[in-house]
Amino acid sequence: MPMFRYIDNGRAPDIVSLVHLRRNAFNSGFGVSMSSPKQALGVAPARQLLSTAWSTANKCIDLLMAVSLEAVIRWRASEVPLGNLPDRLLVIAPHPDDETIGCGLIAYETVKGGGSVWVAIATSGEGSRPGPGQELIAEVRRAETSMATAVLGIKSKNVRWLNLPNLTAHEDQMVLLVEELVEFCKPNVVLVTATSDPHPDHAALGRAARRAVFATHPALFEYMVWGWYDPRSWLRTLIRTRDASASGADLPFGAVQFRSPGGLECKRRALSCYLSQLGPTAVKVGLPAGTGMLSHRFLSHFLKTSEVVFPVNTAARELIESGVTSNASDR
Ligand SMILES: [Zn+2]
Repeated sequence: MPMFRYIDNGRAPDIVSLVHLRRNAFNSGFGVSMSSPKQALGVAPARQLLSTAWSTANKCIDLLMAVSLEAVIRWRASEVPLGNLPDRLLVIAPHPDDETIGCGLIAYETVKGGGSVWVAIATSGEGSRPGPGQELIAEVRRAETSMATAVLGIKSKNVRWLNLPNLTAHEDQMVLLVEELVEFCKPNVVLVTATSDPHPDHAALGRAARRAVFATHPALFEYMVWGWYDPRSWLRTLIRTRDASASGADLPFGAVQFRSPGGLECKRRALSCYLSQLGPTAVKVGLPAGTGMLSHRFLSHFLKTSEVVFPVNTAARELIESGVTSNASDR
């Protein structure tokens, strides 16, 4: 195609057309004369190089922080014997998969020890990919949760769906739902995502559970999901909220660790049920590639022989110190 086609057609080029042509000509490799002085001097490639170096350095800092923060938290965490696990456990998760990621081992060991476990999931995870196809995503994710919880030994009738579309906009409603759940399940321990989790849905659910549980008094523990992966956001939230909530001062230290070497394989199998979330495997369940977001690095924080949770209220601290009171007759 001739470079100055407008002139060839007998039309005078306006300034916009000329700029456009000049840019196209440069992009097509029409000689040094068409390039800008900055580009000719290599300023643009240098900027690109700096940007890549900055991004790589940030990733390295995040990785280093994530590894060292987790190591320190686990090193300082109190070890709680498996015998101290609750016999009535309620796990509340914002999305399908959080219950297994954050509490799979604890749930597995509780069931194995003869306890009862309920799982309540606030959304069906349809918001993970905006746009059409959300109903299919919800359907797939609910089916995956059924399989994953069954692998952990949780009864299907004990898996509850709160059916909330958006957690940050429904905090008051969540408080009522959690109160109803606690009333129904009568757990001696509730596990919920941390108020300092970098994911806004996770934090909103944590706040709602605090409000609900402070009125009903079971032991409340928080589990962290995205903070292990993104420690900078986690620490920023902790600093921002440390005065707003006295119990938030327990984080990130003062953690409790439940060790279950025998449960890791089961947790791994339960997690593998979430094909839609494991990156490329989303296509295997009929969802578009890229639907899932759980990278290998993310999962490496959770595929361990112990799980860390953070006590929130006095009941949780008392439970750690004195052990769980048996409530077997209610089972
Ligand atoms: Zn989540």
